Amino acid sequence: MRHFRCLLILFAAVLSVAQDQSGSGIPPYKNPSLPVEQRVQDLLGRMTLQEKVAMLSGADWMQTVPNERLGIPSIKMADGPLGIRSWAGPSSETNAQSAEMKVNTTAFPAGVAMAATWDTDLLQSEGQAIGQEVKAVGRDMILGPTVNINRTPLWGRNFEGYGEDPYLTSRLAVAYIKGVQGEGVIATVKHFAANNQEFERHRINAIVDERALQEIYFPAFKAAVQEAGVWSVMSAYNKLNGAYCAQNSFLLKDALRKQWSFKGFVVSDWGSTYSTADTVNAGMDIEMPGGEPMKDWLKKPKTQAAGNGAGWLVPEKVLPEISSGKISPATIDDNVASILRVIFASGQFDKPHTQTGEIDTPEQRTLARKAATESIVLLKNTGDLLPLNPSKIHSVVVIGPNAGVARTGGGGSSLVIPKYSIAPLKGIQDRGGQSVQVSYALGVSMEGEDASKDTPAAQEQLRNEAVSAAAKADAAIIVVGRSPALESEDFDIKSLDLPAGQDDLIEAVSKVNKNTVVVINAGGPVVMTRWIAQVPAVLDLWYGGQEGGNAIADVLFGDANPSGKLPVSFVKQWKDSPAYGHYPGENLQVEYAEGIYVGYRYFDKQKVEPLFPFGYGLSYTKFDYSGLKVSPNQVAPGKPVEVSFSVRNSGSRAGAEVVELYVHDGHSSVDRPIKELKGFRRINLAPGEMKDLHFTLDRSAMAFYSTAKKDWVTEPGQFDVLVGTSSRDIRLKGSFKLER
Ligand code: BGC
Repeated sequence: MRHFRCLLILFAAVLSVAQDQSGSGIPPYKNPSLPVEQRVQDLLGRMTLQEKVAMLSGADWMQTVPNERLGIPSIKMADGPLGIRSWAGPSSETNAQSAEMKVNTTAFPAGVAMAATWDTDLLQSEGQAIGQEVKAVGRDMILGPTVNINRTPLWGRNFEGYGEDPYLTSRLAVAYIKGVQGEGVIATVKHFAANNQEFERHRINAIVDERALQEIYFPAFKAAVQEAGVWSVMSAYNKLNGAYCAQNSFLLKDALRKQWSFKGFVVSDWGSTYSTADTVNAGMDIEMPGGEPMKDWLKKPKTQAAGNGAGWLVPEKVLPEISSGKISPATIDDNVASILRVIFASGQFDKPHTQTGEIDTPEQRTLARKAATESIVLLKNTGDLLPLNPSKIHSVVVIGPNAGVARTGGGGSSLVIPKYSIAPLKGIQDRGGQSVQVSYALGVSMEGEDASKDTPAAQEQLRNEAVSAAAKADAAIIVVGRSPALESEDFDIKSLDLPAGQDDLIEAVSKVNKNTVVVINAGGPVVMTRWIAQVPAVLDLWYGGQEGGNAIADVLFGDANPSGKLPVSFVKQWKDSPAYGHYPGENLQVEYAEGIYVGYRYFDKQKVEPLFPFGYGLSYTKFDYSGLKVSPNQVAPGKPVEVSFSVRNSGSRAGAEVVELYVHDGHSSVDRPIKELKGFRRINLAPGEMKDLHFTLDRSAMAFYSTAKKDWVTEPGQFDVLVGTSSRDIRLKGSFKLER
């Protein structure tokens, strides 16, 4: 390896002399027509050790150190993944009303909402739009997507990610990254790995078995590297199996680089480093944040109390470790080469992003609205109450703490401040106002927002006002859920129950108005036990971004047919969750005792009935499935299996159906889930229209991770192919036999 590196450097040096003498006067690293690797080696050969080391820690809150002598630009970052947040400092400062440097960009729906669309094209368009906005604000890198799996419904950041399934998460992450990077903007897949709770996130040690890592927590990172060619990976705050992720060589070297051949750079999560030599040697390339902002922030009592660490990869600390032999110059070369490679490959070196471009264009608004609309999940619709029938419903009252305010996303570093945002009430007034009379009652204040309204007496009064308005209206639309102050990065959700007074409100209103529609505006499941039986219609809006209010109006009044499907199971009660009893851990250890049985894998195995299963979502039309063919029915190892069937819209409205394909391995030497998602597609169908669908199941759809062989393995025997409209509504079944 070392010989090879010496040869490469020699080769680059010879080439560079040759080029310099070629008369063009351009050193090879500045020549865009040369291969990236050649430019990297040439530039590396021109750098002093001090210059190389300077690149390992940030210049400030969100950019890397430039090198003026050689013309190496700084990488200017911005937070994502739901749009672009101000890069002036931590979210607690930039999201404050008083924030000095405001940045208004398009607020797309939360990650969980995007996942509910199951629409990879849409995710790619979102990534592309975000990439364009990153350039428009003169930055180079977006800190997203978040691909950590929803292990527990109480994780404060579930709304940022793509739900509970590794396959769905992988497909969506790959699409998002391709969209971003297609614009020459660096995407960052985060947080590697097992960052599945905020509770003690800086100190907690996640104990995760090898199979669960490989089958549940790694696939989206691996796909990001191997299929999307992601240029950057962010390590997580927590420890994984005893070692901080920022200095975890199993993660950063063995998995990322050796097994998956990652060629980009690793950036630390903000303030997650605790050593110098161990961190550099483990494969960390850039420590963030850096410079004076890092020093000021590190001194703050809150930062210290949280357990953050930073300032370990600064030259004053790295250079002595090189002198003492604890870090080799070759390791530094590897780190710097990873950074330079991305600077060249992304085009940033040759064409810096110069703040030319538009924000909040009509196209971006349209995309945000399409995304919000596609993400809405119809959970219940007894008696076809929805869409609201204009011949019967002449007046609606809109009620609830999330009706008059646009809750576009959860709290923390992902919260985007858009130029405008549409609250559900506004969307309903604008759309519904054309045909129905729209009134409004608060009903209950959002917990913690106004202490004067949180008292039992004040709650009763607000509830009574809403009840009397509901008694007079033809339909009541109650918009409930959480707020960014209750669901956020930095802390976990304190309860799966709706915030204070919201259950009481729904119960009281639904007693006086039989046409009550509940709209959930939150980043994940909420408990609905107290009222689900008596409320005829329930919709999930998630956090719908800046266009959420228009989207929900479109669905309520039938301009759009709901087509979202749950990317996460909804439990009846917290106790039913797979992680219950193994969360948030004790003595700073959290054991992922459920192993691979996360989400529907657990409910299937333990025979627990979820309130709404993974993959579930209703429509205003109906879809019929027929004609399953699985061929061949005996297949040699390594050969693919073709699956085809037809889906027909047998209702009277146009609609989109998300078709789900699961596989079950019936004869395995290890315990395998009852079903695992291995394919899906979103299709649009006009009334009466039928489409034929084809899927190819390759080896990865049949394999499990063998801890004995330390590899993915397939075993002979029968595999079931299950095609459904949800994980618990399987419409077609077939099988094939994998030969020896
Ligand atoms: C978050 C990251 C974020 C970073 C920079 C951290 O607290 O965990 O997701 O990108 O801050 O804001």
